[in-house]
Amino acid sequence: MAMVDYEMRKLIGDLTKDVIKAYNIVTPITDIERVVRTIGGGIRLDWSLGAYSDGSIRKSSDNSFEIAVSPLQPTTRKNFTIAHELGHLFLHMGYQIDDELWNQQDERVYFREGNSNMEYEANEFAAALLMPEDEYRKIMDLHTEGDLVDTGEIAKYFHVSVNAASNRGKWLGYLSW
Ligand SMILES: [Zn+2]
Repeated sequence: MAMVDYEMRKLIGDLTKDVIKAYNIVTPITDIERVVRTIGGGIRLDWSLGAYSDGSIRKSSDNSFEIAVSPLQPTTRKNFTIAHELGHLFLHMGYQIDDELWNQQDERVYFREGNSNMEYEANEFAAALLMPEDEYRKIMDLHTEGDLVDTGEIAKYFHVSVNAASNRGKWLGYLSW
């Protein structure tokens, strides 16, 4: 995992809070496909997406978008993939935020693989959307005994993988590396 610096983390955290508020998203998210529909997009299962790419996103009309996901991934991973693509949507495609940028999008597709800054930013957005900071702290405290944090329980609560829950705690500075 490479770095999203403090400023960028703060910016993405704030943006995620705005998105959650604007679309009345209830966290923890139990049905991310419904969230996508609420935001104005659709989901397509794409069997051609294999081991190397979990998902992609494209503008599908002037005011809509389509996220393609591999049907082969477990729910926790699918949740993260879709949230990651939503990160591209708001951060890099300008949807509902930057009309000029949105108007420049045609059939460009963002794939989840790769190491560019955009990938890290989209991952940060996904983590913040699925595991909002305040709620994370609260749930973590519920599942802490002495020095021992039960990341498995945190993961279960937020419908993410243990790995994703653990990374979120580390980036927030709550868990040690
Ligand atoms: Zn991506």
